[in-house]
Amino acid sequence: MGVFDHVEFDNHESVHYFHDAETGLKAIVAVHSTALGPGAGGTRRWVYNNDEDALTDVLRLSRGMTYKNAVAGLKFGGGKAVILANGDAPKSPELFRAFGQFVNSLSGRYITAEDVGCSVDDMRYVREVTEFVSGLPQSGTDAGGDPSPWTALGCFQGIEAAAAARFGASSVKGLRVAVQGVGHVGYYLCKLLHEAGAELFVSDVNKEHLKITLDAVPATVVPPKDLLFADVDVLAPCALGNILTSTTIPKIKAKIIAGGANNQLSTPADGMRLAERDILYAPDYVINAGGIINVAAEYYGNSSEDDVRADVGRIKDRLKNIFAQAKETGRPTNELADELARSLVAAAR
Ligand code: NAD
Repeated sequence: MGVFDHVEFDNHESVHYFHDAETGLKAIVAVHSTALGPGAGGTRRWVYNNDEDALTDVLRLSRGMTYKNAVAGLKFGGGKAVILANGDAPKSPELFRAFGQFVNSLSGRYITAEDVGCSVDDMRYVREVTEFVSGLPQSGTDAGGDPSPWTALGCFQGIEAAAAARFGASSVKGLRVAVQGVGHVGYYLCKLLHEAGAELFVSDVNKEHLKITLDAVPATVVPPKDLLFADVDVLAPCALGNILTSTTIPKIKAKIIAGGANNQLSTPADGMRLAERDILYAPDYVINAGGIINVAAEYYGNSSEDDVRADVGRIKDRLKNIFAQAKETGRPTNELADELARSLVAAAR
């Protein structure tokens, strides 16, 4: 399948393929929309089965960034990058410098940061060769640094909003929460949930990440294949996307799905499947915007950590509105969020 007739193409403004023979770098950058500002979104480094899978992932992720940035009220359009990792080959500074040169060649149409498989350190190498990068080491109390604690904070407050809407609960105390994936976001989310008195169930395919989390908080470990179907109140997906499908949804026992992973729904119709089962779904790009809020504050400057905290706090209000609207209209939450995002982008055009 080509790019233009790809099922996820959805009017992308541009898609760029990059190859650097010296470092073996293969990357795709997709810019979905620059209506609200430069296309901004992190870089995912992942082992894909083939180029086609990488293209599908980057297209879905960059459209999600357009929606996420619009709903979060940021001066960013939507874009995303994927680096096609070569098996177990380690990352290198040279690879990220080569990637930075490619980002630079787009002259600011695309602003990058870290996502799955990339770290603040990797972004430092990118910064050596381009200014179009954020998510760099923090200086003092200015906004900056690893975005994932902010993503986790937004998710935690979003879970509180969902618990209020679905159970009439005033906090997450005593709720059973299953966290799928305890990497950057999942780890910080587990800490916040534990401090607030939730009971944790966790899974990860990476044993080291699991150990780091279990050293920090008490939690019951669930095998990865069973986590989605655990007998819990809340399911918090914090690994990869495409997990809520016509096959998995009928077996889910949680009454709330609210977590940091991007593209949790396999198709928009899965949002209706969840609503029909009375499972309250927090649209992923609304609840997980904390990280990009921090990235934007760092990129545009003049913001403190306190400004970011206040802005991340608004995620909860946005979710409350979507949940109330869904209750009133009987429409699925993902549809309401998509409608809002598209209207904001259309107005900017
Ligand atoms: P990460 O790579 O640090 O963590 C992901 C974790 O999920 C890893 O520990 C991995 O081993 C685990 N995992 C993968 N497949 C799994 C499976 N089938 N079952 C259980 N665990 C599995 O990535 P992250 O930065 O924490 O991001 C997690 C998700 O949140 C991603 O979808 C990312 O796009 C999204 N997200 C992250 C941020 C951020 O600030 N980092 C912001 C917005 C959205």
